[in-house]
Order: sequence, then structure tokens, then C-alpha cells
Amino acid sequence: MNDTPIAIEISDLVKQYAAAGDAPPKRALKGVSLTIPEGGIFGLLGPNGAGKSTMINIMAGLVVKTSGTVRIWGHDIDHDPRNAKLSIGIVPQEIVFDPFFTPYEVLENQSGMYGIARALRRSDELLRAVHLADKRDAYARTLSGGMKRRLLIAKAMVHSPPILVLDEPTAGVDVELRRQLWELVSELNAEGVTVVLTTHYLEEAEQLCDRIAIINHGEVVTNKPTRELVGMMREKIVSITVDRDIAIPPAAEAFLRSEKVADRVLEVTYDKDRTSAGQVLALVQQQGYAIEDVTTREADLEDVFVKLTSAVQQNG
Ligand code: ADP
Ligand code: MG
Repeated sequence: MNDTPIAIEISDLVKQYAAAGDAPPKRALKGVSLTIPEGGIFGLLGPNGAGKSTMINIMAGLVVKTSGTVRIWGHDIDHDPRNAKLSIGIVPQEIVFDPFFTPYEVLENQSGMYGIARALRRSDELLRAVHLADKRDAYARTLSGGMKRRLLIAKAMVHSPPILVLDEPTAGVDVELRRQLWELVSELNAEGVTVVLTTHYLEEAEQLCDRIAIINHGEVVTNKPTRELVGMMREKIVSITVDRDIAIPPAAEAFLRSEKVADRVLEVTYDKDRTSAGQVLALVQQQGYAIEDVTTREADLEDVFVKLTSAVQQNG
């Protein structure tokens, strides 16, 4: 990504929410730095409470950051908030609409808020783009959940921003609708829009995004091209109970990692494309252990989290 122009640049971003009632102050972002290249679909992946919406809402100007800098399409949100706002369209996590406006009116009202002259508005074009042209004059309250989400995407695009940000576009959405939204996002990206989306679904990020940053407890734990991250998911873990206490965990070239997790329990991580569980067991037996019990599991997002967060600690 060395020569790719930058769409969003976040440096040392900190957000501390004030104490409220019994709740102590909450450090939702602990000094996040992140560069989002232009032109792709960037996934911000993390569990609930990781800080994804906080980050998005700071970009949108809805949450005031504690410290750090954010530049959107080259415009600093502190020094040039107007141009920063014009460069980004945000689809929030919750759906809110006045039920008595029609999709066309929703887009016209939003265009008005951006001061876009009538002749320059794109309401009908956007309704076609999100496949809602036939609902142009229906009341918003009569739209299905999926149609409402598509309308929110059109609403975020009225000022033709080069960047579209979607906060959990498919949370609580059924499979069919999820596919439709993925298609729409891909279409917009193919037309040149840089897309940033947050999700807590690994599969979604994997399918849609060309680059994924994982955020956990207010920290970015990784930021990699999707194919590299998926490579890490090829790992499989076998947990082996042996007949006596393990002094030094057996090592072998085929093991990516070998750890003693209890006196007689060994966890070996291996690449399932290159090594089999049988080979792992044979290698452990060769080192003089009798095997009493075995369980295997695929490495999942949880393992990647654990691995990456411990790597961060080791590297300081
Ligand atoms: P995500 O979108 O990844 O689920 P959020 O950014 O919504 O995460 O939340 C990050 C953390 O900040 C959570 O612990 C959440 O409880 C806390 N938080 C979010 N909004 C507020 C707020 N307005 N006041 C206090 N704490 C908040
Ligand atoms: Mg959120």
C-alpha cells in the first residue's frame, strides 16, 4: 500500500467517555493509529464493545475525541471540519427515519441539509443505485428492514462523498439480505467509492473486504490484507493429554507452536494444509510420550485475537 493514496488517516486517537452515574470513565480508544487506503473495501472487525462505533462516530463528527488526529480525504477534522464532512458519508448502526417521508423525500431533505441545489441533486439516480426506484413515493414506514438499510446508504451518498462508511450494516440481518447488501457495497466500490465497514462477523469481513483491521478493547491488534489474515486461519490446534508430566514441550519442524497448558496437556498448533493431526501425534509419541486423550479444533477469530494481543504485549 506504499504508493496507494490515503483515504483516512488516524493517529494516536484516544476517546475517554466521561463517568456517568455508577459507570466509571471508559477509555474506548487507547491511542489508535490506522491508515485506510483509497479505493478498497476496508473492514474494521471486532467484538461488541471493541470501539468500532466510537471510531466511526468521531469520523462523522458525532463523538468528540479526547486526543489524536483524524484526516479524511486529506482534511483534518479539527482544522477543516467542513471539507472532512463533505468527503464522507456515514450509515449509522441504528435505523431512524421519519415514517411519513417517502424515500424520494428523505433524499431530497438530506440534499437540502447539504445545501445541494435542486438541479444538482441525485435522488432518483441514487434510488436506482440502491434498487429502490419502485419505492420512490412509498412511506418509509412501509419499507422492509432491508429497504430501509438501502435507503440509509442512498442517504449517506447524496453529497457524492468519495468515502462511504457503514457501521455494522448487516447486524441482525438475514442471510438473503446480507448478500444483497454485500452486492450493493461491491457495486458502489466498483464505481470508485472507498468503503469502510465495521462488523463483528469474520465471514463478512473475509468475503467483502480486501483489507481488515482487527480492533479489540480500544486497540488495533492487526491490520493486514485479507488474504494474509485468512492464512492465519489455516491453523489448527490439537490438544493432547499425555501419560506423564511434560518437562519441555516437544518441538518439531511441523509444529507452528507447542505449548504446555497443564502438567500433562500439550497444545500444538499446525498448518492444516501441510500437516495432519496424525502426523502431530506421531511426532509427540516419537518423543517418548504415550497419548491418553486428543481433541482438535480450528483456529478461529478468538485464537487470532489471543495470538495477536499476546504478540503486541511481547513486542512492548
Ligand atoms: P463497538 O461499536 O465496537 O461495539 P463502541 O464504540 O460502541 O463499540 O463502544 C466501545 C466502548 O465504549 C464500550 O465499552 C461501550 O460501553 C463504551 N461506550 C460507548 N458509548 C459510550 C458512551 N456514550 N458513554 C460511555 N461509554 C460508552
Ligand atoms: Mg458498534
